[in-house]
Amino acid sequence: MDLEFSPADIAFREEARAFIAENYPAHLRAKADEGEELAKEDFLAWHRILAEKGWVAPAWPTQYGGPGWTTTQRYIWSEELARADTIPIMPFGINMVGPVIYTFGTAEQKARFLPRILSGDDWWCQGYSEPGAGSDLASLRTRAVRDGDHYIVNGQKTWTTLAQHADWGFFLVRTDPDAKQQEGISFLLIDMKTPGITVRPIITLGGEHEVNEVWLEDVRVPVENRIYEENKGWTCAKFLLAHERTGIAGVARSKRGVERIKTIARAEMDGDRPLIANAFFKRKIAELEMDLTALEFTELRTLASEAAGRGPGPESSLLKIKGTEIQQRLTELALEAVGHYGAPYFRGFPTGDNATPIGPDYAHRAAPTYFNGRKTSIYGGSNEIQRNIIAKMVLGL
Ligand SMILES: Cc1cc2nc3c(=O)[nH]c(=O)nc-3n(C[C@H](O)[C@H](O)[C@H](O)COP(=O)(O)OP(=O)(O)OC[C@H]3O[C@@H](n4cnc5c(N)ncnc54)[C@H](O)[C@@H]3O)c2cc1C
Repeated sequence: MDLEFSPADIAFREEARAFIAENYPAHLRAKADEGEELAKEDFLAWHRILAEKGWVAPAWPTQYGGPGWTTTQRYIWSEELARADTIPIMPFGINMVGPVIYTFGTAEQKARFLPRILSGDDWWCQGYSEPGAGSDLASLRTRAVRDGDHYIVNGQKTWTTLAQHADWGFFLVRTDPDAKQQEGISFLLIDMKTPGITVRPIITLGGEHEVNEVWLEDVRVPVENRIYEENKGWTCAKFLLAHERTGIAGVARSKRGVERIKTIARAEMDGDRPLIANAFFKRKIAELEMDLTALEFTELRTLASEAAGRGPGPESSLLKIKGTEIQQRLTELALEAVGHYGAPYFRGFPTGDNATPIGPDYAHRAAPTYFNGRKTSIYGGSNEIQRNIIAKMVLGL
C-alpha cells in the first residue's frame, strides 16, 4: 500500500479545499458552532450544493452520477470535509439505499429513485429495527401480505432516525412467515405519505428529536417498489449494513475532534496552568491519538482492498467498533475538559430564555454531544454484535 499522495492527488486536495472554503454556507457553520439542532433545510442546503457540483455521492459509479474519484480521492475528500468541520450528508439515501438500488434494483427503479436521491429531492429513512428485533434483526415481524399488485404492510419499526423528515423509507418486512427467518424477508421502498403510516417522536437524553417510532397499519405498497426478489431481502439488508459500518468509523472527523479537545485544553486552566499541561490529561489525549492513527491505517488498508475490487467485508465490523469507541472517548474527554461548565447546558437553549449561559462558548456542546454520542456503539449493529461477527467471520472461532 502506497501512502504517499501523488501530485494529482495533492492538486485534487487543493481543489477540494478551495471548493469547500468558497461554497460551504456560513449560516451552517454558525449553527453548528452554537450547538443548535439542525433542520431539514440545513442538511439539504449543503447536500444541494454538492449535488450541483456532482460531488454528493463520492462512492457511486459514474453511470449513476458519482464523480469517478479514486479511492484515494474519496479519502482526501472525507479528510477535507472533516478539516472544514462541515455538517454531514445524511447517509440514508446516498450511502445506504442508493447503493442497494444501483446494485440490486431494476432499470426502472434506478431511473426513478437514484436521481432524486442525488438531488436531495427525496429524504430517506431506514426501517430495519423493531421493538423485538434489533441485534436479532432477522426475527423482525412487520408483515407484508400480497394483495394483487400490492403488499399490505402491518407492524412497527423503532429508532427510525429523522423519519419525521422522510419522503421515503426502505423497510425490511416479512413476506414468508413459514420460511427460515432470513429467507422470508423482503426489502420494500415505501412512500412515507402513504395512508396508514404514523411517525411518533422519541426524545433522547440530550433533549433532541432525532429518532422515532414508525407504525404501519394496512399500508398499501406497490409490488414494483420491492427491491430484488421476494423473500431475498436479507441479501440487500446485509450488503447495506456493511456499507453503513464502514462509514460509521468516522476517522477524519475524530481527528478534527482531537484538535478541538486540544484547543479546549489549552484554554481551560488546571490550577495555575493550562489543562493541556496536566500529565494525566495529556496522556489521555496521546492514547486517543495513537488509537486513532492505528485505526486510520486500518481504514486505509480497507480502502486499498476496496480499490482492488474487494468490497467491505466483515472487517468493517472492526472499523465500526474502534471508530465508535474513539468517538465516545472524545466526547468524554471534552466533557472532562469543560468540567462544571458542561453541566447546565442543553442543545438549543430555549428561545426567549434571557439567562446568559455561563462559561465559554465551546462548553455549550459538551454535554449534549456526550449524551448523543452514546448511540454510536449501539446503532449500525451494536459493538457486541460486531465482536461476534469478527469472532465468527474473521477469526473463524
Ligand atoms: C440513536 C439511534 C439511531 C438509530 N437509528 C436507526 C434507524 O434509523 N433505523 C433502524 O432501523 N434502526 C436504528 N437504530 C436501531 C439500532 O440499529 C438498534 O438499536 C441496534 O441494532 C440494537 O438493537 P436493540 O436496541 O434492539 O438492542 P438489543 O438487540 O435488545 O440489545 C440489547 C443489548 O444486548 C446486547 N446483545 C444483544 N444480542 C447479543 C448477542 N447475541 N451477543 C452479545 N450481546 C448481545 C446488545 O449489544 C445490547 O448491548 C438506531 C439506534 C439508535 C440508538
